[in-house]
Amino acid sequence: MHSLPVLVLNSGSSSIKFAVYEAGDGARTRLLEGAADGIGTDEGQFWIKNAEGKRLTDEKPALPTRAEAFARVEQALKPGALPAVKIPALGAIGHRMVSGGPTVVENQRITPGLIDEMEKYTAFAPLHTPIAVYIMREALRLFPGVPNFVCLDSWFHRTMAPVAARMPIPEEYAAMGVRRFGAHGLSYESIVYQLQPRVPERLIVAHLGNGASISAIWRGACVDTSMGLTPTGGLISGTRTGDIDPGVLLFILRKIGERTTGTAEAADELETVAAKKAGLLGVSGLSNDMRDLREAIKAGNKSARLAVEQFTWTVKKWIGAFTAELGGVDMLVFTGGIGENDIDSRAEICAGLDALGIVLDAERNKKCVEARGAAVISAEGSPAEVRVIPPAEDLMIVNHVVRLMGK
Ligand code: ADP
Repeated sequence: MHSLPVLVLNSGSSSIKFAVYEAGDGARTRLLEGAADGIGTDEGQFWIKNAEGKRLTDEKPALPTRAEAFARVEQALKPGALPAVKIPALGAIGHRMVSGGPTVVENQRITPGLIDEMEKYTAFAPLHTPIAVYIMREALRLFPGVPNFVCLDSWFHRTMAPVAARMPIPEEYAAMGVRRFGAHGLSYESIVYQLQPRVPERLIVAHLGNGASISAIWRGACVDTSMGLTPTGGLISGTRTGDIDPGVLLFILRKIGERTTGTAEAADELETVAAKKAGLLGVSGLSNDMRDLREAIKAGNKSARLAVEQFTWTVKKWIGAFTAELGGVDMLVFTGGIGENDIDSRAEICAGLDALGIVLDAERNKKCVEARGAAVISAEGSPAEVRVIPPAEDLMIVNHVVRLMGK
């Protein structure tokens, strides 16, 4: 196959990340990567790095809207816009999408009709879908003739059995597509990919970033995952509650209802509470960022300690649950910003899990920050291996695009 230049677009609630790859004959070469961050603020960031990691662009523009942010990305990709890199004419574009809803479950070529269909299920990933569908429409308009493909996080979780996917709600709502979809699928997929050809039979992967989730994987296929219909479910994370007694949400909703009139308005406010003000931020009252919280703990802040303890304790509980589901565990992998970098979180999560066969080596765990890649941090003789592996979501998107282009 001749080389295929692929643009990867990965949008979050306030950022657009992008990368250009050259894909050919099994080789995947990243030509550049960049991001427009801080969308919706006057203090945005726009940067681009070349293949060697050298910054080609480093600006702090106001990015009040996603339109302004995406316009910058598009301008930067124009031939000749970046004198230091020769950007080839794009052959395809791959878009990360958290959830396509119940009808769009396969990665596929994007058409205007497909975008409309996925947009019907905005409520299934309310922080992510609006910006993702906006960028898809813009990409179809601005790069006419270049095929666009959607790569779903939910795709990796499609193998979950009904016992894990079904929500315990009346059929009336289940029939509307409400079920467990999971998220971070491209990250999980990339961990399995990186472990090939020796993917352990019983694998647990904890993706601990600003959003956090954990998955139970049997022979490379997902059997269960912590996030639910939306990324707000599952583990406590930076600003999200994770799984919570539904009565708590009803209590808060009634409180909000005392001062609002419309149902939609009240639902939006509840969503802000559950998805943007809760989790580590809510409990600490300080920050959603693990680094800030670790600093605050050192300074004696009790709320920060409680928030972090709750986080690591919750991850530990899910490891126990998934070990039970898998009938044991052969490997535990940490990934995501906290999983890759926070020595203390990994140590606290694994403490006392000897009975499950998980024994960490304190020195290896400490050294691992310098020795990332696929570092083993379990003790010699630990029945389960514990590793730290950074995710490679973009690579998975490029692989899907190459496969779909070949169809
Ligand atoms: P996102 O889900 O937004 O992609 P990331 O995967 O980048 O998030 O993870 C962000 C989290 O990782 C933050 O809580 C941040 O504090 C944490 N983190 C990043 N680097 C470190 C570090 N060196 N030590 C501790 N925590 C870190």
